[in-house]
Amino acid sequence: MAEPLLAYSWQMSQWHDLQRLIESGRLPHALLLAGPDSIGKLRFAKALAGFLLCESPSQVGACGQCRSCHFQIDASNPDYREICPDEGKRQIGIDQVRGLQSFSAQHAHRDKGRKIVIIHPAEAMNVYTANALLKTLEEPNSGTILILISHTSSQLLPTIRSRCVQLRFGIPDSSLAESWLRDYVGDAELSKKLLLEAGGRPLAARQTFDEDGLAVRESFDAAMSALLDGGKTALQVALELKDKDILQVFDWWCSRLMELSRHQLAGVPLLANSWASYKNLPANLVMQTLQRGLELRSGFSRGVALNKQLVLETLFLEWVALCKRSAAS
Ligand SMILES: [Zn+2]
Repeated sequence: MAEPLLAYSWQMSQWHDLQRLIESGRLPHALLLAGPDSIGKLRFAKALAGFLLCESPSQVGACGQCRSCHFQIDASNPDYREICPDEGKRQIGIDQVRGLQSFSAQHAHRDKGRKIVIIHPAEAMNVYTANALLKTLEEPNSGTILILISHTSSQLLPTIRSRCVQLRFGIPDSSLAESWLRDYVGDAELSKKLLLEAGGRPLAARQTFDEDGLAVRESFDAAMSALLDGGKTALQVALELKDKDILQVFDWWCSRLMELSRHQLAGVPLLANSWASYKNLPANLVMQTLQRGLELRSGFSRGVALNKQLVLETLFLEWVALCKRSAAS
C-alpha cells in the first residue's frame, strides 16, 4: 500500500515547532504556511493533515495503517478538503469557499473530531472569496483546522493574515536539498546545477529535470544573445516564447536579470555565460528592467488579461534599445 506523506527533510524545524504547539494543546484553528513556491509547503500541509487526522500518529507523522490514514492515502477522507483553483483557472471560485461552510458545520466522521481544510495558494482568493472564508475562520468551534498556503503572503488581506498563525518556510538548506535531488536525478553535479538554476528551490529543480528544462533554458539564453547581436528580432523571440508558460518565461527573464544585477553589484558569477555580454549595462537600468519584469509577472499571475506576444515583444524591444543606447554612450 501507499506510504503516508511525511514532511521533507529540510522542514524538520517547522515540523518540530508545530509538534510543540500540538503537545501543549495550542494548535491554532488557522495556520498560514508562507514562503517561496516550489519548496514543498503543500507536502508539509498534507503531511500535517494526515498527522492530525491519524488515529495513532508518531512524532514523525501519520501511521499509514489506521482507517483515517487509509482514507487519507486514497484521497477519500470525509474529514479532509483541499481547495485550489480549478484546472485552467488562476482564481479560487467563491462557491468553492462557500461550500466549506457546510463542511465546517458538520460533525467530523472520525473519533478525533477534527476536520482539515488546505487552501492553496491563498493569494488565489479575491476579496469576495477571502471574505467568505473569513466567515469560516470566525467560527473556531467547529473543530475545523484551516491550513492556508501562500507564496506571496504580502498579497493576502490583513484580516486573513491576522487570523492565522504564520509558519515561515525559507529556501532549504542546500546540502539537504542536494542530497534529496541527487537521489532523484542520480548525479551530484547535475543536482547542484539544477538547484542553482532554480534558486535553491528543490521542487522547481526537479521539475526542470523532468521537463528537460536545462535545455529549454539554454535555448532561452541563446535567444537573448541573438537579440543583442541582431541574429533575431524582438518579434521573432516573442513568437518563439508566446506559447510557453508565461510565468515560466518571466521567471527565466527575472532570474537572469537578478543574476546580472548580483554580478554587477557583488561580483557573483553568472550562471549563463551568454549573459556576460550584458554586464556593462548601467546597473540601475538592469534593476529597472527587472522591476518591470516582476510587475508584469505579477500581472500575469493575477490573471490580468494581457497579450503575451505583444508584452514580450515590447519588453525585448525596450531591452535592445537600452543596450544599444548604453553601448553608444
Ligand atoms: Zn494513521
